[in-house]
Amino acid sequence: MSGVPSLYVDGRWTASQNGREREVINPFDASVLTTVDEADETDVDRAVRAARRAFDDGDWAFGPSKRRAEVLRAVAGMLQRDKEAIARAETLDTGKTIAEARIDVDDVTAAFSYYADMTGKDAGRNVDAGPDAVSRVVYEPVGVCSLIAPWNYPLLQASWKVAPALAAGNTFVLKPSEITPLSTIRMVELLEEAGGPPGVVNLVLGDGATVGAAMVSHPEVDLVSFTGGLLTGRKIMASAAEGVKKVALELGGKNPNVVCADADFETAVDYALAAAFLDSGQVCSAGSRLIVADELHDRFVAELADRAERIRVGDGLDPDSETGPLVSAEHLAKVEKYVEIARGEGARLVTGGRRPDDPKLASGFFLLPTVFADCERGMRVVQEEVFGPVVTVERFRTEDEAVELANDTRYGLTGAVWTNDASRAQRMANRLRHGTIWINDFHPYLPQAEWGGFGQSGVGRELGPSGLDEYREAKHIYQNIRPEPMRWFRG
Ligand code: NAD
Repeated sequence: MSGVPSLYVDGRWTASQNGREREVINPFDASVLTTVDEADETDVDRAVRAARRAFDDGDWAFGPSKRRAEVLRAVAGMLQRDKEAIARAETLDTGKTIAEARIDVDDVTAAFSYYADMTGKDAGRNVDAGPDAVSRVVYEPVGVCSLIAPWNYPLLQASWKVAPALAAGNTFVLKPSEITPLSTIRMVELLEEAGGPPGVVNLVLGDGATVGAAMVSHPEVDLVSFTGGLLTGRKIMASAAEGVKKVALELGGKNPNVVCADADFETAVDYALAAAFLDSGQVCSAGSRLIVADELHDRFVAELADRAERIRVGDGLDPDSETGPLVSAEHLAKVEKYVEIARGEGARLVTGGRRPDDPKLASGFFLLPTVFADCERGMRVVQEEVFGPVVTVERFRTEDEAVELANDTRYGLTGAVWTNDASRAQRMANRLRHGTIWINDFHPYLPQAEWGGFGQSGVGRELGPSGLDEYREAKHIYQNIRPEPMRWFRG
């Protein structure tokens, strides 16, 4: 960084072959934080080949699982040791508040600890094959993995791939988003400090179209795990199909937050704010689509807007800030465009929809928390992922209608129901077609529980036992213990 090599290939920090660099921008004030190396296809090739050698060597992949668990556990310890510095890097890079960045580091630690505990567990199982055979199923690592992460939770999303990939014995090439590389560089430093053979962990930095695409198409890659946008996910799946690579995709969401008439009003409003405006709505699971019972609707919208106007927007490093800027000038422009689209579609702007007046925020990429009412299911702003501080409100009259609206999406990542009727809560949770359903809550996830999307929110699961299975091949070993001619062909 700024003169220090920032790619990590075959156990060494290195500059890119082409000598190119990229500026890393602070979204709070558009200042340049540092510069990092910008890789290209040649660097990807070097990294993939290093990962291949380390995998084929077998020392890491097929050695004692205890060693892999020790590396993961060591990283978990170091993440806590360096928590403040890592959280600060995440805040500077993404704009999110330092309080949230600290929670992210704790969650990343939990992912490493969980997969340390999972390492070597469930090593395989015996299958009853009758008296004349021994049959067992064992699990092996898939091989060389390309791990591609987004900018909204740079370290967290990377850890959900890195920790299980290592636990299962894979080697990998990791790429953070080109606009938020700083915390991932730190994580790779910790992985280096934790030990492990060279070539197991490799880091490349750079844009998606060049570096990311090369990581997907490289013939020596066995698995691609990607978190990011739907359109990118489609491209990655198509490219990976050429080599029939294993693909795991964590894509976007347009997540319904359904508030029934019997919900606790104050709590539901409070959580609706957090669901929509945490990290300025740049959360794949954001509750950006509120679906509110007709009886509550007007009071709910008024209270939501009133509280949204009181959200303190500012510098993520200032402890008084409750949410920060959007990640980049391009992303701000995209979100502002959706504000225009929504107005053009006839949605009623209740609050926000513009940049803050505070001159101290003028050079940053800020947008005020925005509430649109009178929204209809067919509107683009209701169907497409805005990925900013914009919430739409629709109304419903019956339980059936609420479920129908909540399922009327191409996505299917998360959904929530607010009600004090326990039976209704279970009925609705059963009928909602999303990978995570919250009842009287929003946003919590656990490393032990699977995370992922129905529909076009993705393919596969992260976290939980399934998150490890993504990185393992099942192999059936069958032995005939009484071999003798079978005489199928009698001649
Ligand atoms: P993005 O798709 O633009 O980029 C994600 C990553 O893919 C980046 O590292 C980028 O460089 C790379 N990339 C871009 N084009 C590529 C290509 N052709 N080949 C290979 N790699 C390529 O997404 P983003 O804007 O960084 O992230 C926001 C998106 O991520 C949102 O849609 C959000 O919902 C989604 N997301 C999903 C989850 C989840 O768990 N489902 C979590 C976080 C974010």
